[in-house]
Amino acid sequence: MPNLTNLLRKVRRNPILPLRLRCNVDSIYAYQNPGRAEDTPEGELFNDKRDLDIVQKLGLVPGDTRPAIDLFDRLLEKVPTAKGVCGYETVTSETWQGCARACGGNYEKGHALGLKAIIPPRDSGEKARVKGASAAEVLAAGSLRIRPHHLMCMTCFHGGKETLAPIQEDNLFEAIEAIRKNPDIPVTLIPGCCMICTPCSLFNPKTGLCIGGKSMGLRDQKKDLDVLQKLGLKYGDTLPARQLYERLYARIPSTRDVCAYGDGEVRGYEWRACGGPEGNAGYPKARAAKLGIRG
Ligand code: SF4
Ligand code: SF4
Repeated sequence: MPNLTNLLRKVRRNPILPLRLRCNVDSIYAYQNPGRAEDTPEGELFNDKRDLDIVQKLGLVPGDTRPAIDLFDRLLEKVPTAKGVCGYETVTSETWQGCARACGGNYEKGHALGLKAIIPPRDSGEKARVKGASAAEVLAAGSLRIRPHHLMCMTCFHGGKETLAPIQEDNLFEAIEAIRKNPDIPVTLIPGCCMICTPCSLFNPKTGLCIGGKSMGLRDQKKDLDVLQKLGLKYGDTLPARQLYERLYARIPSTRDVCAYGDGEVRGYEWRACGGPEGNAGYPKARAAKLGIRG
């Protein structure tokens, strides 16, 4: 299957490659029909049903486009087996024999390997090196550059705890430490990934983008803009950390207001709520402790 090999190679090279799902349908969605050239030999009816079964299980519609990493993540979550999709327990007629490979177990074996088999994760040695260098940089910085909603993530990370410790995955701890050491450190609010992101598994050093699955980038941008709007600020604004946090805690008492859209309602797969519909329980604790900022 040269096309599939080629597609896999392209996705590995570029995990955010946009993939559009197209399939042959009779309805008002026929505008995206791809034609029959890529049908497999089991017949049109079987090909049409298999495609619609997959699109339905994914909770999408024909013509939907997503970055490859999001689409494969969703496929692994929503389609654990080829059985019932590519072949049926009972063959009801010649038309519905299904694909000869449906029951071979290959899809299930690939599924068990998870997303890393399709899109290799960031190299752990490179990540560790970046963690060491970027953590030292944040701790020594005379000013910080942080995306707006990460001020809130720092609060969840703190969670009201007496003692904090660094983690490998990000620089949340280091940013809190830099502010505790110098509460008036200037903080500039920036769009996209920031100094907290660089060691994260989901940070793509080539593009500087977050490739968190399930459309994390969309939600994160909305959170950033929500924070800016509530604080009456814009990208590029710089405030002393203490002032910024006073304003944040006065205007955003709960993560529900931002990370759960203010009403806790999850309206779609891409719009899940971090911290739960009622808000992250650690946020108000850290807010009460003013993130440990003295004075
Ligand atoms: S609930 Fe919001 S602020 Fe807290 S960790 Fe999740 S995204 Fe960050
Ligand atoms: S790269 Fe993405 S998941 Fe990682 S810290 Fe940054 S925004 Fe969060």
